[in-house]
Amino acid sequence: MGTRAHEIYDVVGIGFGPSNLSLAISLEEHQENVPAHPTRAAFFERQSAFGWHRNMLLPSATMQISFLKDLATFRNPVSRFGYVSFLHESGRLARFVNNMDFFPTRLEFHQYLEWAASRFTDRVSYGSDVTAIRLPQGAGAGSSEYLQVEARDNATGSTRVVNARNVAISTGLVPRMPDGMERDERVWHSSEFLEKYRRMNPGDLKSVAVVGAGQSAAEITRFLYDSLPHAEVSAIFPSYGYSVADDTPFANQIFDPDAVDDYYYGTDKARESFWRYHKNTNYSVVDSDVIKDLYRRSYDEDVQGTERLHFLNMTRVREVKRAGDETRVLLDTLLDGHTQELDVDAIVFATGYDSMEPSRLLGDLDRYCLRDAAGRHRVQRDNRLVTTPELSCGIYIQGGTEHTHGLSSALLSNIAVRSGEIADSIVGSRPARDRGQPLHAAAV
Ligand SMILES: Cc1cc2nc3c(=O)[nH]c(=O)nc-3n(C[C@H](O)[C@H](O)[C@H](O)COP(=O)(O)OP(=O)(O)OC[C@H]3O[C@@H](n4cnc5c(N)ncnc54)[C@H](O)[C@@H]3O)c2cc1C
Repeated sequence: MGTRAHEIYDVVGIGFGPSNLSLAISLEEHQENVPAHPTRAAFFERQSAFGWHRNMLLPSATMQISFLKDLATFRNPVSRFGYVSFLHESGRLARFVNNMDFFPTRLEFHQYLEWAASRFTDRVSYGSDVTAIRLPQGAGAGSSEYLQVEARDNATGSTRVVNARNVAISTGLVPRMPDGMERDERVWHSSEFLEKYRRMNPGDLKSVAVVGAGQSAAEITRFLYDSLPHAEVSAIFPSYGYSVADDTPFANQIFDPDAVDDYYYGTDKARESFWRYHKNTNYSVVDSDVIKDLYRRSYDEDVQGTERLHFLNMTRVREVKRAGDETRVLLDTLLDGHTQELDVDAIVFATGYDSMEPSRLLGDLDRYCLRDAAGRHRVQRDNRLVTTPELSCGIYIQGGTEHTHGLSSALLSNIAVRSGEIADSIVGSRPARDRGQPLHAAAV
């Protein structure tokens, strides 16, 4: 990345997952429309190359959104960064259409994201962990026109500092383990699944367990059952059965761009209703085809008189005891109140994620960021954190806005439109001579 030491970027993006990749596209398209007013952007990504939930790229896993909810199409249907362009360039457009399926595999969607990311290598520093965002030394919030972003090069350990008028924090979800459970080479979180699985000799995995009742848990259970034909596979979850993800059309409207306005400007009661009635579109639920796949396997075992797929429903993990290669799981059975033990060679906690929290990165800067009565960051409609008036630099977040922007905050559904709104806001906050046309007016 060609950075001059004292250059001030219009925006520095932290993390280069789909959210900031989509922002890079929005800024690029703005620049193409208003070439006289380029926007200087730089991005830092801690992974050594582009990667989107690589450890969950299970062979048959499919997307939970339409391919048309790609990085650009909903904002700019004629974008050259859309999924259709990717398919066309890959020579697969006709065959893709023959599938008559809106939901590509995650493997293919990953290829699409890599294809798009490869257009931006000149402005992304991979293998770089952002460790702090701060005001320049000695500067007050009111006197500085830029923030400093500090990044550590993971290969060399060296530190680099760049200046930014705005930052876009898009660091993604944070894996969550149940209290008291520690990860190690036999105890995994789903976010590290394939990496840890591949380190094992499959023949050594004679008994495995998966904890959780959501999409990742069900997918991993299916994968382990199919990949380890000799192994006992136990699915452990506290509910009676898996619950289905509601992806029917009326419910799906909560992920539409307009729903963000309804949520953002709605009353507290309205926002609460979004969650009460529609949480089952995404949280702790499973696509019906995966549920049916699992049930079918279990039924077939019944017919054949064998059983190595075990559903330990109404059951919670109380403790995991580790000693060398041995892993003993203590389980509380909710139905009869008994405790049972299960010896496994590996256990996967598909217990979900916490939403993005920018406070750690913001450090001292966080005191300029205003919070609501519940202690959560206040966020403008354009995803900029509400700050005290003296801080003139913009801090934008993508993710961590479920309380202000609703259910699509951590998802892909709305990123094309959202990144356009952020790009408009960044361009709009520049001095008039520097600005050109707003993105929405020029893009389509
Ligand atoms: C297995 C799985 C499947 C999913 N499938 C779907 C789906 O089908 N549809 C959907 O809508 N949503 C899905 N999601 C939700 C998911 O949040 C989004 O798909 C998407 O990843 C959000 O993009 P993002 O860029 O905000 O976050 P991420 O994809 O998490 O990207 C954040 C990036 O920031 C980097 N980073 C973090 N901290 C730093 C730092 N300090 N310095 C530098 N880089 C940093 C990370 O390495 C990462 O690459 C899925 C989630 C999971 C876990």
